[in-house]
Amino acid sequence: MQVNVTNKPTALIILFGATGDLAKRKLFPSIYRLFQKKNIEKFAVIGVARRPLTNAEFQENVKDSVQTFADSHENVDDFVSHFSYHSHDVSSSESYIELKNIADKLDEQYDLNGNRIFYLAMAPEFFGTIAEQVKAQGLTDTTGYKRLVIEKPFGTSFESAQELNVQIRTAFSEDEIYRIDHYLGKEMVQNIEVIRFANAMFEPLWNNQYISNIQVTSSETLGVEERGRYYETSGALRDMVQNHLMQMVALLAMEPPIKLTDEEIRSEKARAFRSLRPMKKEDVEAFFVRGQYDEGTVSNSLLPAYRNEPSVDSESNTETYVAGKLLIDNFRWAGVPFYIRTGKRMDVKSTKIVVQFKDIPMNLYYSKEPEENVHPNLLVIHIQPEEGITLLLNAKKNGNQMQTKPVRLSFSNTSIDRMNTPEAYEKLLFDSMRGDATNFTHWDEVALSWKFVDIISEVWEHTKDETFPNYVAGSAGPKCADNLLEKDGHFWWPIENLEIDN
Ligand code: NAD
Repeated sequence: MQVNVTNKPTALIILFGATGDLAKRKLFPSIYRLFQKKNIEKFAVIGVARRPLTNAEFQENVKDSVQTFADSHENVDDFVSHFSYHSHDVSSSESYIELKNIADKLDEQYDLNGNRIFYLAMAPEFFGTIAEQVKAQGLTDTTGYKRLVIEKPFGTSFESAQELNVQIRTAFSEDEIYRIDHYLGKEMVQNIEVIRFANAMFEPLWNNQYISNIQVTSSETLGVEERGRYYETSGALRDMVQNHLMQMVALLAMEPPIKLTDEEIRSEKARAFRSLRPMKKEDVEAFFVRGQYDEGTVSNSLLPAYRNEPSVDSESNTETYVAGKLLIDNFRWAGVPFYIRTGKRMDVKSTKIVVQFKDIPMNLYYSKEPEENVHPNLLVIHIQPEEGITLLLNAKKNGNQMQTKPVRLSFSNTSIDRMNTPEAYEKLLFDSMRGDATNFTHWDEVALSWKFVDIISEVWEHTKDETFPNYVAGSAGPKCADNLLEKDGHFWWPIENLEIDN
């Protein structure tokens, strides 16, 4: 269903998990920025969590979060006056009635037209219960819109995701469900579509005739930190590949939508997922490799191996690194590998996309010196921490001889527009209030990406990787990831050489 997108939304946000880390670091500062920019005027927030807190104590927490994580603090008292708190164990049905009474009162007080966002910043095991209870206790019987915003992870396999989906669908229809993949809120991820579809010089080349391969990298320098218990059941494949990396692949591979509506864009992305060559168990080894970090020294500090992190099994088989090759079997992409990689405790923190164009048919400027030789053209999309675009071209080297040198054309989004770049959560919250689901994942996308990833998980769960740990903390990852590309005559473009020239 096409929803009417409105620019001055009103909403009562019922935030489940309001004393958690996500609320404190991301959600309160994001709502504050929307308020500060006057993107939202009529709104109220009810924070729900187990801990007993008064409204005043909760407002103090929100104020503290804004002062710590937002750039400005003006009008913060006015801002926090929109916040109320309800202490409530979400698994007990009793206090939903009280929550409904508070919601109805605030709705009237702030003139919110019955518009409600149920934001679940909580562990997924509670999603089903909350959805069922808010419906059963009448919180969703409202005269305005009702929308459910949920955090990842959405299941741990196709089967568990489907089970969760059935539960939430008892209370919300698909077009009322906003599944967050916060990568889709990032400025440069949203820019992929514009770079492709608004530039005459790219779209005609965006196919297997001109593109040699595409590389998507998302590397972190942090280790598993305090999340060992969760990560042991997830690993990099479920934590990063099924959602963020595959979403970027879909945006790079999809066909142009006929219109820029959430329905059309998401249906093209789902079609890209459907064109993915399905994994077969016997092919997993040839297409996907995994790694786990060992201890290593970074800036004179010895960092522990994954197996020595808190709440991690000392013989853990969980991968902290994944690299893989995806093939898309359609006319546009037949034969073009999409390489993806992601890892923890890497040498650099970076998310980048490198589009490598094919070599020209004949090199007139051959030189034995690699530096002077013609390089493949690259389009680099810098997602984070840098935001921008770099185009690598060949130009004439100054002098009397006809030699070439690589030149870069760079656009740095962050340096030009730093103050105005909204944080991903700010944009996603605003979109959910406006009814624009474009940058949220549709169930079809979730289902298809889990089906793809499940085959790999199954194989990896049943085969212990005897090489683990196979990369040193602070390095560029395991050797097997390089071999994956070398087999095809390609190599990973080194991230450190691709930074934006400001
Ligand atoms: P957290 O553990 O810090 O907070 C959990 C919140 O849930 C707390 O407010 C707690 O009081 C509340 N809670 C737990 N059990 C409850 C119950 N029975 N009744 C009522 N309230 C209860 O978790 P978090 O880091 O804020 O993450 C929340 C969700 O967001 C998780 O699903 C997580 O995977 C996801 N997420 C978090 C981040 C992040 O940066 N923290 C990023 C992406 C996704």
